[in-house]
Amino acid sequence: MTEPFIKSSWTKQDSPFEIPLRPQSLIDFVGQDPVRKRLQIVIDAAKERKEALGHCLFSGPPGLGKTTLAHIIAKSMETQLVLTSGPAIEKPGDLAGLLSNLKFGDVLFIDEIHRLNKTAEEYLYSAMEDFSLDLMIDSGPSARSVQIKLNPFTLVGATTRSGLISAPMRSRFLISLRLDYYEPHILQKVVERSSKLLTLTLDSDASFEIAKRSRGTPRIANNLLRFVRDFAQTHKQKKIHLQMVKEALDLLAIDEYGLDEMDKKILKLIIEHHNGGPVGINNLAVSVGEEAHTLEEVHEPFLIMQGFIKRTPRGRETTALAKQHIQKLEF
Ligand code: ADP
Repeated sequence: MTEPFIKSSWTKQDSPFEIPLRPQSLIDFVGQDPVRKRLQIVIDAAKERKEALGHCLFSGPPGLGKTTLAHIIAKSMETQLVLTSGPAIEKPGDLAGLLSNLKFGDVLFIDEIHRLNKTAEEYLYSAMEDFSLDLMIDSGPSARSVQIKLNPFTLVGATTRSGLISAPMRSRFLISLRLDYYEPHILQKVVERSSKLLTLTLDSDASFEIAKRSRGTPRIANNLLRFVRDFAQTHKQKKIHLQMVKEALDLLAIDEYGLDEMDKKILKLIIEHHNGGPVGINNLAVSVGEEAHTLEEVHEPFLIMQGFIKRTPRGRETTALAKQHIQKLEF
C-alpha cells in the first residue's frame, strides 16, 4: 500500500523537469487575476492577524495550477505543506494520522477531494470547523469515542469535478476559487517564463504558437516547450523559430486548436459511428478505449469550451464546427 501522504516541496505529479518551472509566489503565478487577487487578500489578512489561513477549495481541469497554488500558500504563510489525495485516505485512521501531525498554520493539500470516501469526509467536517476529531475506537460493547485536539491548520482541497463536492463540505471552505483555461496570450507568458528558466531563445511568434496549441493549460504548454527544445537540439538549432515549433508539434499530431490524437478520435467516432450523436459517455469510453472519468475530466471540458461538442440530456453530440474540422484534417 502507498503512503497516504507526501511531506515535501514536490508532489507525485511533479516530474523533475517541472520543479524549476513551478511558480514560487503569487507574483510569479501567471494569469487567473481574480483568483490571485482574492488569495492575496486572505493571505495578507491571516498573516497580519497571525492566524492560520481559512480553508481554500480550488476547482478546474488538470494542469491549471491548483497544486501550485497550494505550494504558494504554504510558502507565503511560511508553513509546511503536506500533500495527499482523496483516494489515498482509505480509513479515518489515515486522516487522524495526517491531521494530528500538523503544526499551527500547516497546509494540508487534498488533491481529488471529490474522491474522498464518505466516512473520512464526515470526520473532516469537525476537523475543519473546530480543529478536533472525534474518533470511534473499537466496536461492540467496548466501543468508545476519543476526542483529539488539533492545531489550527489550513485545508486546501483541489477538484476537477466541483459538482461532486457535497454542500456541507463546500460550506466549510472560506473561499472556493475556480481556475479557468488560460487564453493563448496569457499562456504565451507562461511559455516565455519557462523558456527563460530553461535558458532557451524563442521568437515571439514561436512562443505564441506553443501557447495556442496547449489547450489553455500551463502543464501542457511546459511539456510542449520541452519537446520543442529537444527537437531544436537534435536539429542543432540554438534559436527556436515558428517553423520549427510547427514541425515539432505536427510530429506530436497536435493540431492548430491544440487537439491531440485522443480528442480527434473522440470527434471522429461520434461523427462517423454515431452520426454526430447523441452518444452516452460510457459507450464513448468503451469505443475509444479510455476511462469514462478521464473523458469527462480531461477531454470533454476542452472540446466543449472550444465548441466541438455539446452535452445534452441524451448524451454527447458533435457540432458543425467539429464536422468541418475533422473533414479538413482528412483532406
Ligand atoms: P493542477 O494541480 O491544477 O493539476 P499544477 O499546479 O500541478 O496543476 O500545474 C502544473 C504545472 O503547470 C506546474 O508545475 C507549473 O509549472 C505550471 N503552472 C500552472 N499554473 C501556472 C501559472 N499560473 N503560471 C505559470 N506556471 C504555471
